[in-house]
Amino acid sequence: APPAPAPPSHPPHTATVAGVPVDTRHWIGGERIASAASPASATAATFTDHSPLDGAPLAEIARGGAAEARAAVAAARAAFPAWAATPPAERARLLHAVADGVEARIEDLAAVETADNGALLRSHRRGVMPRVAHNLRYFADRLLALAHDDFETRGHTNHVTWDPAGPAVLITPWNAPLMLASWKIAPALAAGSTVVLKPAEWTPLTASLFADIAHEAGLPAGVLNVVQGYGAEVGEPLVADPDVRRISFTGSVPTARRIAATAGAHLVPCSFELGGKSPLLVFADADLELAADLAVEQFDNAGQVCLAATRILVEESAREAFLGHFLDRVAKLTQGDPRDEATDIGPNIHPRHVERVDGFVRRALDAGATAITGGGRNTGLAGLAGLGGLGGLGGLGGNYYLPTLLTDVAQDSEIVQEEVFGPVLTLQTFPDGDEDEAVRLANDTRFGLAATLATGDRERADRVTARLVAGTVWVNCFFVRDLSAPFGGSRASGIGREGGDWSFDFYCDLKNTVTAPKGWARHG
Ligand code: NAD
Repeated sequence: APPAPAPPSHPPHTATVAGVPVDTRHWIGGERIASAASPASATAATFTDHSPLDGAPLAEIARGGAAEARAAVAAARAAFPAWAATPPAERARLLHAVADGVEARIEDLAAVETADNGALLRSHRRGVMPRVAHNLRYFADRLLALAHDDFETRGHTNHVTWDPAGPAVLITPWNAPLMLASWKIAPALAAGSTVVLKPAEWTPLTASLFADIAHEAGLPAGVLNVVQGYGAEVGEPLVADPDVRRISFTGSVPTARRIAATAGAHLVPCSFELGGKSPLLVFADADLELAADLAVEQFDNAGQVCLAATRILVEESAREAFLGHFLDRVAKLTQGDPRDEATDIGPNIHPRHVERVDGFVRRALDAGATAITGGGRNTGLAGLAGLGGLGGLGGLGGNYYLPTLLTDVAQDSEIVQEEVFGPVLTLQTFPDGDEDEAVRLANDTRFGLAATLATGDRERADRVTARLVAGTVWVNCFFVRDLSAPFGGSRASGIGREGGDWSFDFYCDLKNTVTAPKGWARHG
């Protein structure tokens, strides 16, 4: 008799990534659902998720389309009345239970996220995944504190309440997948809205683990739904669904334009957190060692940070000293495997993205820019050969881009005006003492997400800050974030602010109840 076929090493619809089993299907209405292949549209039932570390395939992920989008919104709608009616204390308890589940699985979540998006394992372990739990706890507690003081109008009381708005669609990018998803999920669920999350197609995995965690914590079916797939195939029908009451999107400007146009048909409020081209202003009176530290921080996550201060604007007389400190620090950066504790800069997300980053740099160099450091792929990563699977993705180190600083760049050039979303900074100067010119250069983009300022003069900091167009300004620091603070961008960097009560304002319909002092029935 022929030998029995070997049993599958894992159940169908499960991929094992970094030793962790991950369900590769959608999570809709409390059930795992696979996408059916559609012969009519020739759409495959799955797509392949690759690791940015070495290009190796990680998982075959369910590829959602209009049917899955509809099913997920229907599930969120069906679950909404009961969830909205669940007492705030109970919703908060469940969110804390989900946070407990996240904390219990930090190692798994960190390992899977690093395999999937290439960001540093140590940051995932110690910073990002604890922050995911914190997002949940923060909005749970904030919900219980949510209150306006009642106020009077000619003896009548005004009483403001936050009514849950209804199903929310949450669409997220790949650069900080679970962190950004939880930044939306937590306030939406706390507010009593139900959600459909669509993670980015390059980083689908931790959202699936999160669905398991939420389910195990007791979140009712349909309150959180996760659909996987491409923006054009499943994102568009989600956004177009007439049962959706809110859309919260973090991603690029062109996608936001499409979503806004579609959402306009049903007048669905959108929250947009988009790209940036933020300045780092370095005045000659600054602590230039600190300024250099702030500049080097912009290479974090291989430059794939929306808030990154990618345009360094330094006062002429401080240029040489600043640059000296900066280059000293860059020389000490280690690029390589993001799972290694010693690594400072890992890979960029995808060969196509690296191609795009490199295109920006090539065109800048062709236009006369000078690379003070970096300027291309890191081809010297011999140590990475052991990772395997680099073939076909641009060769060894194909996804690893050198930390780059370009100078001799014109203010109106592409490299100064467009978001690169890689480890690429520009250096420009402004004349000594010319604060007006510094502010003019800082504000001269279509974006307005953030700005960072290095100066030793408190009054200058106040003057300059007041004139900057930015949702967040950091003075002599970077990336310090309190969840109570409003977060978002001006101009093309976004619409609306999230964080603190602003998140509740977005996921709720605010209601003011005006009550007269007279007219009550008399009893007894
Ligand atoms: P993207 O716009 O290409 O994709 C983001 C998400 O939108 C993905 O899930 C994608 O599948 C989905 N999508 C694409 N087309 C869609 C459509 N037509 N309808 C519905 N959904 C669609 O952005 P990206 O490349 O994944 O992310 C990088 C961008 O995100 C950068 O511009 C970065 O600055 C920005 N970002 C902003 C913030 C912030 O808070 N401001 C944070 C992180 C990233």
